[in-house]
Amino acid sequence: MASTVLLRSRLRGLVLHRPRKKPGKSKQSMNITKNSVVSFNYTLSNNEGEVLDSSEGREAFTYLQGAQMIVPGLESQMEGKSKGAKFKAVVPPEHGYGVVEPQLVQRVPKDRFGDQKVEAGMQFQAGEHSVVTVREVTDEDVVVDGNHPLAGVTLNFDVEVTGVREATADELAHGHVHGEGGHQH
Ligand SMILES: [Zn+2]
Repeated sequence: MASTVLLRSRLRGLVLHRPRKKPGKSKQSMNITKNSVVSFNYTLSNNEGEVLDSSEGREAFTYLQGAQMIVPGLESQMEGKSKGAKFKAVVPPEHGYGVVEPQLVQRVPKDRFGDQKVEAGMQFQAGEHSVVTVREVTDEDVVVDGNHPLAGVTLNFDVEVTGVREATADELAHGHVHGEGGHQH
């Protein structure tokens, strides 16, 4: 027992006399928090293991933490992570692209599309922020689905954080990232 006490007091001494870090040479990595500019690589799979999206072969995805640029369920699990962190984030639909809303599936008369060729699987812009997917085409009607293509899907992210830095004043004013992986202006 005596030696344990000694060890403890020695440790305490070490902590007390730890040399100060030289300014600017700190290697301590920054933790992701609101207004961090975060870069990460990812692979997104559904519960069946099918890969839906991946940053492989592209530059890392860069975003501003807290600006709702990524799905809320992933943003919340990014909080507190630092550069080099590798983790899995499972995001249920309600914190991802939403649950499927049946009322967003609608029948539209085919003549509404004019001469445009319409086939199942095609996507059309509908309003400023929404995209509809053609589900079915009959002789008279086109069945369109306004749900996000990933609505109702549990998102399984494999994430590797490749960079964390503080946002600049300009980035905060604009609400987006500048430079690498962001806006070039
Ligand atoms: Zn800007």
